[in-house]
Amino acid sequence: MLVAHRIRLEPNNVQATHLAHVAGVARFAYNWALAEWQRQYAAHKAEPALPAPSQLSLRRQLNAIKREQFPWMLEVTKNAPQMAIMQLGRAFENFFAKRARHPTFRRKGRDDRFTLSNDLFKVDNRRIRIPRLGWVRMREILRFTGRIVSAAVSRTAGHWYASITVDAPDHSLPPAENQGAVGVDLGVSALATLSTGEVVRGPKALRTLLERLRRLGRALSRKVKGSRNRAKAKLKLARLHEHIANTRRDALHKLTTSITRRFHTIGIEDLNVSGMLGNRRLARSIADMGWYEARRQFDYKAAWRGGRVVVADRWYPSSKTCSCCGYRLATLELGVRQWTCPGCEAVHDRDHNAAVNLKDMAVSSTASACGGGRWPCAFAQGETGPGEAGIRQQG
Ligand SMILES: [Zn+2]
Repeated sequence: MLVAHRIRLEPNNVQATHLAHVAGVARFAYNWALAEWQRQYAAHKAEPALPAPSQLSLRRQLNAIKREQFPWMLEVTKNAPQMAIMQLGRAFENFFAKRARHPTFRRKGRDDRFTLSNDLFKVDNRRIRIPRLGWVRMREILRFTGRIVSAAVSRTAGHWYASITVDAPDHSLPPAENQGAVGVDLGVSALATLSTGEVVRGPKALRTLLERLRRLGRALSRKVKGSRNRAKAKLKLARLHEHIANTRRDALHKLTTSITRRFHTIGIEDLNVSGMLGNRRLARSIADMGWYEARRQFDYKAAWRGGRVVVADRWYPSSKTCSCCGYRLATLELGVRQWTCPGCEAVHDRDHNAAVNLKDMAVSSTASACGGGRWPCAFAQGETGPGEAGIRQQG
């Protein structure tokens, strides 16, 4: 199974300059190939006798002219531009298969990255060897053992990272302790709410950081466009985003390890369903990112223990369906944390109810498991509601 570990690099100034150079060459190759692809594709449509473009033909064409036309490309490993054009080929494959949008040009500052194939770099303890550059220090050692597949080196908020993909075939762990199912509702302020009623708050540091993020965002909007102060504030904000992402990722690792260790079947919502608290773009982007990361971690950790992850359909109304009787509300405002079911009078905590529905969804999608029936509502939460109100009908 392919797993990736993203490790912060600690290049010195000379190395950082070289990394930026490699990323620049990769970006140039990608953009050159994209422009050529469009040109050759249009020509091929007009005159079918002309060959249609392919990543292979474009790689050959660039190789043939780079010494003459783009000699500065020779200063970095030739693997980086080659891999960039292969990625373009995959992007077009995905586009033609309707899995992705049409590839777009890469931009400096946003797409500072390059990929190396496994025979071109080496990892040794806390360092990675980049061709034409040498050993660069890493902050951590590689978490996985197995055949190294590739490394993607990228810059975020001024810091360099290497995401190293490893094929870890025999990374199997003992099966989950409890062979049961759980529903997980992922959020922003609370990291997760489980169908068991547990609420995982997440690190306190994260809440402090989110508050600081709001302040910095406001400060940035007051700075004059194009000014030095604005550029400084921008970098500060980007660094904070990165810090939050790292803190959140660590917290998610603890959460996903604990859940996959305990439960066999895990139901989660599709992206964008929850995490819309306050409906702010900021909270939203952080929730989205957390969702991708959580999904990735659940997938590989469950697979290691022979468990499974079931993702709800995008339109599955996990929040506004009563987990006791199945009654579905027409609407449920985002700010409403608690509601009473008109059908059976069960009092629901919004997140917990969603988690219970996700669990039911996961179980019923597992063929022959319990026949997909509904659970009796054992947790009618909240101070106001009568505890028994939740325990009503089954099936
Ligand atoms: Zn109900």
